[in-house]
Amino acid sequence: MSTIADNLSTLGARINAAAQASGRAPSAIRLLAVSKTKPAAAVREAFAAGVRDVGENYLQEALNKQAELTDLPLTWHFIGPIQSNKTRAIAEHFDWVHSVDRLKIAQRLSEQRPDGLEPLNICLQVNVSGEASKSGCTPEELPALAQAIAALPRLRLRGLMAIPEPTDDRAAQEAAFARVRQLQASLDLGLDTLSMGMSHDLEAAIAQGATWVRIGTALFGARDYGQQ
Ligand SMILES: *Cc1c(COP(=O)(O)O)cnc(C)c1O
Repeated sequence: MSTIADNLSTLGARINAAAQASGRAPSAIRLLAVSKTKPAAAVREAFAAGVRDVGENYLQEALNKQAELTDLPLTWHFIGPIQSNKTRAIAEHFDWVHSVDRLKIAQRLSEQRPDGLEPLNICLQVNVSGEASKSGCTPEELPALAQAIAALPRLRLRGLMAIPEPTDDRAAQEAAFARVRQLQASLDLGLDTLSMGMSHDLEAAIAQGATWVRIGTALFGARDYGQQ
């Protein structure tokens, strides 16, 4: 069985190779370690290996892990579906939210972001897979939504996030990520972040401009939802 440190070094090599293949600086691509269903001890091990950014999908699970890891200087990212009644805790306990897909949620996050903290970094989740996905705003909704969110005082709109329909076809992966990149460029808001690419498609995402790749399985191993 490989350790988290081994997996991280393999991932670093994948990211470097993908960056090089598309003429990008490896340092332009950051790794977000997605630790959903994994214990705090696994995050601690990842930290020891060099991970600094952690992504979580479920609020209560994330808060429990944060409470066990207060001694580590980690940056926490919320990447899961957001219910209105969870926005206050998200605004208080995270530095990034990648999964904003409607204005009401963004407004609440802005109102509830504590004054003493930096503005909350936001990625707007866009659905580039049509019917196949339930989360994310549509490409048609995106321009007005991005404008409105960019104007909220306690948020900093950084870019777009997408989870395209899974496929093993590299050309199809790249087409979906290219769509996200083009949508972002068409907003003309000076955004600097593209959160796209997971364990199985990070190479295609990097080829199309990803700045955060969100990696769970390839770092921590397969998830066992039965343990939840
Ligand atoms: C679980 C999850 C990931 C990580 O997926 P892997 O395929 O395990 O790398 C990335 N992004 C989001 C939004 C997720 O929910």
